[in-house]
Amino acid sequence: MSLQYPFADLPSSGQRFKVADGVYWLRFPLPFALDHINLWLLEDTGGWTVVDTGLGIRPSQSIWKGVLAEQLDGKPLTRVIVTHYHPDHLGLAGWLEQETGAQVWISRGEWVLANDICDSPERDTIERIRTFLGRHGLGGDDLDKVAGKGNGFRRVVQPLPANPCFLAAGDALTINGQRWAVHVGCGHSPEHLCLYREEDHLLISGDQVLPTISSNLNVRASDPDMDPVTDFVNSLEALRDNLPDDTLVLPAHGLPFRGLRERVDALVHHHEEQLDRVQAACLQHPQSAFDMLPVLFNRKLDVQQLMFAMGESIAHLNCLMLQGRVARREVDGVWRFSA
Ligand SMILES: [Zn+2]
Repeated sequence: MSLQYPFADLPSSGQRFKVADGVYWLRFPLPFALDHINLWLLEDTGGWTVVDTGLGIRPSQSIWKGVLAEQLDGKPLTRVIVTHYHPDHLGLAGWLEQETGAQVWISRGEWVLANDICDSPERDTIERIRTFLGRHGLGGDDLDKVAGKGNGFRRVVQPLPANPCFLAAGDALTINGQRWAVHVGCGHSPEHLCLYREEDHLLISGDQVLPTISSNLNVRASDPDMDPVTDFVNSLEALRDNLPDDTLVLPAHGLPFRGLRERVDALVHHHEEQLDRVQAACLQHPQSAFDMLPVLFNRKLDVQQLMFAMGESIAHLNCLMLQGRVARREVDGVWRFSA
């Protein structure tokens, strides 16, 4: 079965769009190649819950002011749930907490990482990224540009929420008398929250499952040997095996869709293919993560995409290394992998 998209029309900017009983879609613009994020408004008895918040920039705040004034039927925003630490999701959580008094909820793993990134001095961050990506073969102008982005994170997530509460796998929330089970995924981020409404099979999937693009898998300089590919695939398979196939998936990017099993299988297959491709390329002679970019991506990359692409390349090499399919050796300060 191919994916089905029950809502072909997009919500207009700043307008809520009903997708299920008490569940509304908001679409906020993003100033990147990925040009929007979906937020999900959930109607509760005494107010509203929102899942994810948008990037911490002025234009998103203006849209939010309109939403708070006109889209909530005069009821307050009482709860903000952040699926993961990435700035388009976490960005305005602290600001919404200040503006509305809403309680922010996040997972502990995402919260710890967001604080680590914000607390680390800009110069250290830049230096660490430079050393790490340099060792993986990125050099010259490209390295300067990517490392120069440094701690841009901090600028688009301030203020962080002052007083968040924590959600973990197996927890559940009652919203408007209905139970939402908390599922946690890994690979795209450390402890990514997904919310599943059991009664009518709705999954707010954040970036864990997206309909048309594959979520970025990144290896952090602070944890250079991590294997997000295996973590991501295992998390996807757990969602596929635990939730019914008629689940309506509400993703953070792209359109709501049905066909969870189909989509998970395609994503798992995509990563298997990428692993095979990288392993094959490492057969002829030793290759760095940078050498693998044209093998993995057949398009031109801007600075942000180059950063994501390096993460993705290192992630697949780490996975192959842990599976014993490639070995790593340092040659002239650069890690090279051979099959
Ligand atoms: Zn993300």
